[in-house]
Amino acid sequence: MRFSEIIGNELLKQQLVRMVAANRLGHALLLVEENGGGGLAFALALAQFVNCREPGETDSCGVCPSCHKYQKLIHPDLHFAFPVSSSAQLSESEKKSPVSDYFLPAFRELALTNPYFTEQELYDAIGIENKSGLISAGEARRIFEKLSLRAAEGQWKTMIVYLPEKMNLEAANKLLKLLEEPPQGTLFLLVTHQPERLLPTIRSRCQAIALKPLSREERSRTAGGRDTDNAEYREIAKSLLEAGLSKRIIDTFPQWEMLADLGREKQREWCLYMEQYLRKIFLVARGLDTLADLSPQEEETVRGFATRIKPTFYEKAFTALDGALSAVGSNVNPKLTFCDLSNRLLLAL
Ligand SMILES: [Zn+2]
Repeated sequence: MRFSEIIGNELLKQQLVRMVAANRLGHALLLVEENGGGGLAFALALAQFVNCREPGETDSCGVCPSCHKYQKLIHPDLHFAFPVSSSAQLSESEKKSPVSDYFLPAFRELALTNPYFTEQELYDAIGIENKSGLISAGEARRIFEKLSLRAAEGQWKTMIVYLPEKMNLEAANKLLKLLEEPPQGTLFLLVTHQPERLLPTIRSRCQAIALKPLSREERSRTAGGRDTDNAEYREIAKSLLEAGLSKRIIDTFPQWEMLADLGREKQREWCLYMEQYLRKIFLVARGLDTLADLSPQEEETVRGFATRIKPTFYEKAFTALDGALSAVGSNVNPKLTFCDLSNRLLLAL
């Protein structure tokens, strides 16, 4: 991938190129993105750029043998680690300790067709769907082994860790060791949308680079063309607010039951969506429409709610949603989680 193919964050491209030129690029970068916001695209473009045989002033050449292999994601010095779980496609022995390598063809295909995929889209693509992925200690051992080898042909061995926050403690400690004493000629590119879930010691070992979230217009130009306004999530959010405003508890049942039936990752995505949706209503209620960046589908509902929701609601709602998010993360019974959330919203409305 070349920098010129990346959508958005133009300034960041120039900054990274300047860092490489001035030899100021650290051996470990933490790219902080919004879920599906292009952190992986930047990791791929940077890895290709530092290994390009004929780099230009602002981008890799795209035609040298190294670029050729990087563009297909098959360069022998390019390694990936990402969260996985057991899946029906794996053999019995593979199921015992699943690692990224078993899912590499699906990962490559996804990254090549749409490097702006979200965590959930990764899980769908590798066939683990409703399960939440994990980066295990076994994976961390493989990372160590891969990086102990001499670079096959590139200047840099590149290890891209997609969602390092999905490492369990043992894996995280192994990664930390590698970051503390990096094998020679290794570039670590960590892509995260939850930096707060990383070990502070890992965060402090990395040069953090924050990506600006894509605007709706930029998002529409990505391969997935996915709008941050998800129709299914919007419908649940809307119905739940309507039911809450009517103050009839029984009307909230279908919504929280629907939420309880989604997989964990989707539940998490919905909570984040709901936070964003409420933020938009809040902004419109204060006359800050341009900041709300409403899609045509959101226009009517968001404006309607903005006039009906009282100002004291928002803070209580965000607290309730944060509570639901952490409950989803710690495997609390989803029926309890979402019944409780919908009651809290109703009371606050
Ligand atoms: Zn090149």
